[in-house]
Amino acid sequence: MIPTTCPHCRTRLEVDLACEGRPVVCGMCQEVFPAHRDDPRPVARVRRRTWDDDDDDDDWEPPRRRRRQSSSGDGAIYALVLGIVSVCIFCLWPIGMITSAVGITLGARALPTRARAMAVTGLVLSTVGMIFAIGFAAVTFAAIAKFGLDDGVGSVRTQQTLKNRR
Ligand SMILES: [Zn+2]
Repeated sequence: MIPTTCPHCRTRLEVDLACEGRPVVCGMCQEVFPAHRDDPRPVARVRRRTWDDDDDDDDWEPPRRRRRQSSSGDGAIYALVLGIVSVCIFCLWPIGMITSAVGITLGARALPTRARAMAVTGLVLSTVGMIFAIGFAAVTFAAIAKFGLDDGVGSVRTQQTLKNRR
């Protein structure tokens, strides 16, 4: 007897050795098909076992996607842009702190990707932007503390800050 599979209903059958390669009638669906010996495919079975963890779940894994890397590469570009923006607008430090914080986060996340150089640049620029923003904020608060409203700048923001303190 040789193992064979009906191509119409996928039923596994056994036919007499003499019938190999000849038309046989499937006992399930009554279709006629040539009885070819089932391919045992030993190589495929061995490869499959390498990630078979005996949990009876389907062990098929999706192929590793390259999309993930390219999207992280986008993160490096955003980190770079945010870093440049952060350095340029440090005098608007409330915004600069946000952009530099996001730039540092995106740059750090994009470090293990192909766009590593860009991610590092974005990370460094964002950090510099953050330092500038913190420094400018400190200078601003120091100026307010020292000169109060008489420093001539007198922005609405400064006045509101002082009002809240009283
Ligand atoms: Zn059949």
